Formats: sequence, C-alpha cells, structure tokens
Amino acid sequence: MQDHPFQGPAYDADALRAKYRAERDKRLRRDGAGQYLDATGEFNHFTDDPYVAPGFTRDAVTEDVDVLVVGGGFGGLLTAAKLCDRGIRSFRIVEQAGDFGGTWYWNRYPGVRCDIEAYIYMPLLEEVGTVPTEKYATGAEIFAHAQAVGRHYGLYDHALFQTKVERLEWDEAAARWTVTTDRGDRIRARFVSVSQGPLAKVKLPGIPGIRSFKGRIFHSSRWDYDYTGGDASGGQVKLADKRVAIIGTGATAVQIVPRLAEHAMQLLVFQRTPSAIEVRNNRPTDAAWLQAQPKGWQRRRMENFLSILNGRPQAENLVGDHWTDLWERMGALMAQGQGRLSPPQAMQQADFEKMEQIRARVTATLGEGETAEALKPWYNFLCKRPLFSDDYLPAFQRPNVTLVDTGGRGVEAMTPTGVCVDGREYPVDCVIFATGFDVGAPAHKVGGYQVVGRGGRSIQDKWQGGLRCLHGTMFSGFPNFHVVGGAEQGTTAFNFTHTLDIQATHAAEIIHYGLRNGVAALEPTPEAEERWLEQVEAKHVDHEHFYEECTPGFLNNEGAFKDRPTYVGGTYGGGPLEYEAVITGWRAERLAVDMDIRPLGRTAP
Ligand code: NDP
Repeated sequence: MQDHPFQGPAYDADALRAKYRAERDKRLRRDGAGQYLDATGEFNHFTDDPYVAPGFTRDAVTEDVDVLVVGGGFGGLLTAAKLCDRGIRSFRIVEQAGDFGGTWYWNRYPGVRCDIEAYIYMPLLEEVGTVPTEKYATGAEIFAHAQAVGRHYGLYDHALFQTKVERLEWDEAAARWTVTTDRGDRIRARFVSVSQGPLAKVKLPGIPGIRSFKGRIFHSSRWDYDYTGGDASGGQVKLADKRVAIIGTGATAVQIVPRLAEHAMQLLVFQRTPSAIEVRNNRPTDAAWLQAQPKGWQRRRMENFLSILNGRPQAENLVGDHWTDLWERMGALMAQGQGRLSPPQAMQQADFEKMEQIRARVTATLGEGETAEALKPWYNFLCKRPLFSDDYLPAFQRPNVTLVDTGGRGVEAMTPTGVCVDGREYPVDCVIFATGFDVGAPAHKVGGYQVVGRGGRSIQDKWQGGLRCLHGTMFSGFPNFHVVGGAEQGTTAFNFTHTLDIQATHAAEIIHYGLRNGVAALEPTPEAEERWLEQVEAKHVDHEHFYEECTPGFLNNEGAFKDRPTYVGGTYGGGPLEYEAVITGWRAERLAVDMDIRPLGRTAP
C-alpha cells in the first residue's frame, strides 16, 4: 500500500498503475487509427439518411449572398443566430440532413440522451424560451430544440437541406467564394463559415469479413426503426425473435444496450474496452426554479461549469455533476494535503478514488462473476469519455443478454451469419456498429468537400506538415473563411456547445466587421499565424504523459498521441474561457493589425 502523509487512500496506487498499463497494452495495436474504415465507397450506404423520404428533388439555386454557413447543427445554428443578432440576414445554410440538429438529427438510436446537463448544453435556452424537461435531456428533446432555434431566428427560410457542398473556391477578382453542391446549386458568398461537427464522420471497424455478413447491419447513427420497431424511447418489439449483436461499448452503446435488452430475443454485447459507468442522477426540471433565474443565468452557469473543469475554484458548483465533482475532490485533497500534493498528484488521487467507486459499483450490481470482472474499467477516468447510466450494468443480469469480452483485441472476424471472437462464431440476425466517429478530423475532411483558397491552394495542402492558423478558426490564403468548432490550435470542452458559441461569436463579429466596413477580403497574415502558434506553444499543457498511459481510443489517437500544438490534440492550453478572453481582446485591439484587410478593387499580395 502506498504511503501518504495524510488520510491514506484505500487502494494500492502502484498496483493500480501497473494494472492500468497491462490493460492498455492488451489493447494497443500496430494499425492504430488505421484500423477503422470510412463509410465511403462500398460502405457509403451506412450513411444513407433513414429519416427522409427517398426521391427528394428541387430546382438548383443560383444566388449571391453575404454569408454561406455550411452545416445546420448547433455550430451552424449558433453562427446564423449570431449573424441575425448583428442584423445580417443575407445568408444561406447548406445542410446535408433533412433538417437542423446535426448530431441530434442523426443520432436517434434507442435511449439517446446527452450526458452534459441540458441547462448548459442546449444553447440559446433563454433566447428561444425552451425549458428542458429534465437535467439530462433526451436526444429527441435536443433535436426539437434545434428546430425551435431554427424557427425562432427564421432560419428555415435560409436553409437548403439534403444538400452537400462539393466545392468552395475563392474567386479573387470578384472577392467571393463560389460554392457548388451536389444539387447543382451555384452560390456566391462574400463570407463562408463551416461547422461540420466532431461526430459527423461515421467510423466502421475494419473487421475481416465485414463485407460478407448477410443479415441486417447498420451504424448506431442511422438507426433502422423499420427493422427494430419502436422509437428512441424504446419499444424495439420487432427484435423479439432476433439475435442481435452490438459492437462497441462506448457512450452510444451504453445508452442503447438497456433498450435492446428489453426486447431482443438474444443480445450479444461485444466489448473491447469496458466503459466507466457513473451514476446518472437525472431528475425532472423544476420549471419554476428555471423561470425564476435572473437574465443571463445560462451563460453564468456555463462559465461556472467550465471554470471548475479548468481548475478555477468557484464559490458554488452550479451544475454539481460527476464531471465537476472530480475537480472538486482534487481541490479538497489539495487543501487536505496542505501543499504536499501538486495538482496532478491530487488529480491522480481523486481519479483513483473515483475509478475505485466505479469498479465497486459493478460488483454491487453484478456480484463477483466473470461478467462483472470483465465490465470493470482499468484506466484513468478521463482516458475515455466517462459515462453515466443507471440501467446499463443491470442489463447484464437479464438471461437474454450476454457480454462477449474480447480481452482488448476486438471482434476477430465476421462471417455471412455471425460475429467471431476467439475462433468461435456467434450466429446473429443483426449487427449494430456502435463504433463511433472520426473525432479529430478537420472540417473539410468531415464534410468531404474541396476548399480552394487564394492562388488555387487547397486547404488539405495548408493542413499538411504543420498547420498554421489563427485561433484555430482562420487561415492565411483563405480569405473570409471561418471554421466554427475548430479544436486544433483552437479550443474544445466537455460542454462542446459552449465552445461552438465562443467561435460562432468570433466568426459573426469578424464577418460583421467586414460587412460594416466595406471590406472585400480579410484573412490572417502569415506573421499573425506564427505569433498565434507561439502563443499556443507558450500555453501548451503536457498531456502526453497522461494520454500515453491511457487505454487507446480516439482521445489519444488510438495510443499514438502526439501532443504538439501543430497536431491534433493541440488546443489552446489556457482552456476555453481564457481562449475566449484572448480572442475577444484580439478583436478589440488587433483585428486590424493581424488581418490583411483588402478593400474592393485591391488585389491580393
Ligand atoms: P466511441 O468511439 O466512444 O466507442 C466506440 C466503441 O466501439 C468502443 O467501445 C470501441 O472499443 C468499440 N470498437 C471499435 N472497434 C471495435 C472492434 N473492432 N471490436 C470491438 N469493439 C470495437 O463511439 P460512441 O459512438 O460510443 O461515442 C462517440 C462520442 O460521441 C463520445 O465519445 C461522445 O463524445 C459522443 N457521445 C456523447 C453522448 C452524450 O451524452 N453527450 C452520448 C453518445 C455519444 P474501444 O473502447 O476499445 O476502442
């Protein structure tokens, strides 16, 4: 047992570390992120939209607008809302799906909910007047709120749905982006803001034999309710005579499994790495409490949450959830240790304690058997997305549910009739991939379109060999172009919509500046990009050691984490709130200095 100078922990820290490493090593594989397949080409059908009637057609649009917004998820909605707030109404939103909502449009699987408190996750609650019914909202409720945002700001009149942007090309002479789509549209826009979302690019497991399976097969983000019956709240009664395999045990699967368990004749859960399952702690909203909140409450609550997660103690923990309690515990340990524990040491101790509780919960629910043992996660809490569920673990008590643990190796093969692990075939009628998304991919890659800037340079080229950008959102050589949701040298947060809000404001403010001042083109100077990189490097926080010890996953690039600001994972190290303060200050003081601003008629340098 490790010796501590104060209140000794009830676990052996060294043994835990060794166990964590051993479990990580089981899961490491040579092909890293290359193990996954894109849902393109022969796998394209995995991303067909099951929620629209087939055969949609419309006339092609030819038009000239001030702003083109690519994407109608919360990033695009926030950008459009902020343009409206600034009196800009000449814009077009192009969205591949049949409606607004982004990830909440696509992810309608049974049990879908958000793990971040609705009062801080659902943007523009005060503006739109939505009152979430529960602390953790269902996907359907969040999707309905996205639609409400669309109606509130009159955005439906601006939207082209079921439309994919194919190419964005900067026309220097006209100082316009020329945008073409798969529906033959030709849109010219002075400004472009793209918002693809981190969960838009479906990832399939490269399992040998995946092509051969003859039963029903689909990805969790394109749920086949015709096949399963029911809806997102449950009722998958058509599975009563079906053997169902779900591959993956991440955030998505943990929500799906309890619903399938209720109805499938047999449910086989194929696990590679167990998830850490915290208590859900959901409760109905006290509408009177919410309505009595003073104006600006949502913003204050959002900031309170991110402040705590950024290690800035607050007088009150407004959200009071299982994210914030980890940091609160760290603070308490540091106070208790009276300076003898550094923040990383205190965080590690808080983490060990939390994970011990999580593992104890598995035993409390399922006893001591093989299944319980296999469901215990052995890694630090923040190595993977922590999950919150009260019905996932109990699902394994049901006789029709079997955990097939693959010992960190993953599914071995698929055959025309089933799924194989350790040389044994498990015959099934249906396979559901809950295998996630290509989370770190840049916007243009997710969107699958070409972006061609000044001088015919593609954004792919710009991205090669060490990205240069300003604030993670703007690029020299790409005038009047913004990314909302830019994490690389930008920012991100567990409450992702908060960072979308910050960057949507940034884009809208700069676009407003350009339009108000009759600017033809503005883009960061290469010098400004270099200075920003220096700023990011100066703020660099070394996560490399932490992530190296983690079990592989998308957060550590499948075990090959490159924690450098020029690579994925290099967000601004001061955290999102400091990032916001920096870019807000920059707009006030340096916009005219750091941007090459060209009035109409002047050509590019
Ligand atoms: P994840 O990437 O989190 O999980 C994918 C799962 O598939 C993992 O369990 C992975 O195992 C498993 N897997 C991949 N390949 C294989 C294989 N060959 N054999 C067996 N298993 C395999 O995807 P999710 O869709 O679950 O979640 C993605 C993200 O979506 C989350 O991290 C979160 O950001 C977001 N989300 C958020 C929710 C919310 O409430 N806010 C709810 C749902 C999703 P392994 O762990 O070993 O890689």
